[in-house]
Amino acid sequence: MTRQRPLLLLLVVFLGAGAMALGRGPSAVADQAATAGRPPGTSYKSPAFTFNKITEGVYHAVGTGSLVVMSNATIIEGDRDVLVVDSHVSPGGAWALREELKAITPKPIRWVVNSHYHFDHSHGNQIYGPEVEIIGHEFARQQILAGKSINSPALQFYVGGVPAAIKGLEGRLAAATDDKERATIQAQLDIQRNHLEGTNAVKPTPPTMTLDHTMTLHRGSREIRLLFLGRGHTAGDVVVYLPKERIVATGDLLVEATSYMGDAYFPEWDQTIETLKQLDFDTVLPGHGRAFTGKAKLDHWQAYLRDFWAQAQKFHKAGVAWEEAAKQVDLRGNAVNYPGIRSAGITPNHGMRRAYEILDGKIK
Ligand SMILES: [Zn+2]
Repeated sequence: MTRQRPLLLLLVVFLGAGAMALGRGPSAVADQAATAGRPPGTSYKSPAFTFNKITEGVYHAVGTGSLVVMSNATIIEGDRDVLVVDSHVSPGGAWALREELKAITPKPIRWVVNSHYHFDHSHGNQIYGPEVEIIGHEFARQQILAGKSINSPALQFYVGGVPAAIKGLEGRLAAATDDKERATIQAQLDIQRNHLEGTNAVKPTPPTMTLDHTMTLHRGSREIRLLFLGRGHTAGDVVVYLPKERIVATGDLLVEATSYMGDAYFPEWDQTIETLKQLDFDTVLPGHGRAFTGKAKLDHWQAYLRDFWAQAQKFHKAGVAWEEAAKQVDLRGNAVNYPGIRSAGITPNHGMRRAYEILDGKIK
């Protein structure tokens, strides 16, 4: 999860939807309907993904907004099969990725890695059959089995508002008089209804193979290292590292903007980024946002984490309630690296609640 305001997220989705609606006819929908075995939540105008080629056989798949997928995937081709990092927010999202990947490679998906257990990275797992191994950290498996991916404050925050958003759009549609406006609202409404249908169909499905520290896959000349570098965004973040290609997929341990902190481990996350820094890589493929190069963003995220943690400790020591601390915490010193930060406070406030739980000794 990234720490972004849901309204902005929705707006981005809606803008994407408007462009899609103008550019595509009904034939794409008809083509898709012909594809058998599609799960609920797959009524959308394709394509759902843009496959950004990073190097030969490696792609960063980013949602277009025509289908709400909420997280990126990384695609890594081996000699015979394909490994996909993350399965999105719903079976529909995972299904769309698998369908659209057919235009990129004829090789089958044989491996899915969950970078961590959060709903927006693992809730498409269920579409993959017994021929596919789902790999994740042991902690991710335990969390998904314990219902922590679906019964989560993060999911509530980011997806819980969808029914209300649908009602709002229905009201706007009824009130709209201009045909163009009606078409735009209808496209947004279709996307949100489909999103709700998709997320309602989720059956949390845990990894079938787990690791505690490292695992390496050798697929022809492709060496794929799965690494647990320490606790951070969760207690079980796996980064996927291609040493020859100098590429690392970081899940939500490091994203383009600021990462969700509601299940974080402070101050270990900072140290885990330091460990990540020791890897030899040029390109980062994050779980949210765009791919980027170099290591400057690792420094930026460490600075943000240190600032947040130092302030959280001060508020805690002063006896300020966590809800109030979440309003007062001022991270604008980081705005040069994260232009989205325009005011004091942190939304959602889950990160501060988490910090207090750690400071109160409730999290081990
Ligand atoms: Zn996450």
